Amino acid sequence: FNTQRFGQHILKNPATAQKIVDAANLKPTDKVLEVGPGTGNLTVKILEKAKHVTAVEMDPRMAAEVIKRVQGTPEQHKLDVMIGDFIKVDMPYFEVCISNTPYQISSPLVFRLLSHRPLFRVAILMFQREFAMRLVAKPSTPLWSRLSANVQLYAKVDNIINVSRNDFRPPPQVESSVIRLVPIDPPPPIKFEEFDGMNRIIFSRPNKTIRGNFQAKGVMKMLEQNRRTWLAAQDMMVDDVSISSLVDKVLEEVECTENRASKMDVDDLLKLLAAFHEVGIHFS
Ligand code: SAM
Repeated sequence: FNTQRFGQHILKNPATAQKIVDAANLKPTDKVLEVGPGTGNLTVKILEKAKHVTAVEMDPRMAAEVIKRVQGTPEQHKLDVMIGDFIKVDMPYFEVCISNTPYQISSPLVFRLLSHRPLFRVAILMFQREFAMRLVAKPSTPLWSRLSANVQLYAKVDNIINVSRNDFRPPPQVESSVIRLVPIDPPPPIKFEEFDGMNRIIFSRPNKTIRGNFQAKGVMKMLEQNRRTWLAAQDMMVDDVSISSLVDKVLEEVECTENRASKMDVDDLLKLLAAFHEVGIHFS
């Protein structure tokens, strides 16, 4: 097996597999999406509880294996296997996602799930422990980061199971954790690119003042350009307002001049973004 390319670490501890599936609280009516079923250790347990599973697997040999495993069982007709890269395939309808995927696609996997509509009910996802800890981190703690803020804008995230590397064959280099992701429904009416664009600036050095981060090289220039584009799109005259004094004014207004991203929660960040939008400062 090409374990390098596909990150194929098979979950060999049945008790852990069962805990992961149980954490989803599956209903007999649920349609489940599984990403990277591998040989199907989670898949067979999901099939016992759910109405239907669509499993997306990039490696055709693994896909064949999971299909073979359920062939001739009563569960056979409840499983569809799609061969392809999860990041590129059209997603099926699903209410629950369960996945132990290779860690290379952790971040795109989370954001792809969160931007999919209709929203799912819950996702149970295994990640490298460090990544999982950043997903669930709270403000004013060391791992609070742009990733934490961007994900927690859209979902409630909890760490539910720590998994030892010895539960896998072959064991990966790193420890793993399983998280529960529950989308906030309805999602906040925010353009993600704007929220993320602002966070890129202020989390570039999370412990530096917001004001300091805005003074970093290239930031004002980019904001000035965005502002011109925005004014033009509104059919407004391009003014010669100094962008840096406009930024300072906003930061004073929301009392953020001395604030640091490391201490701001999602609500603080949303307030700051709204204040920038108020004066025509945009981040995408
Ligand atoms: N879920 C199984 C388990 O827990 O035993 C297998 C886990 S293994 C870490 C990851 C699986 O995801 C492998 O079968 C691999 O081939 C598959 N995979 C890797 N990249 C993928 C991608 N981009 N889209 C879909 N499947 C992928």
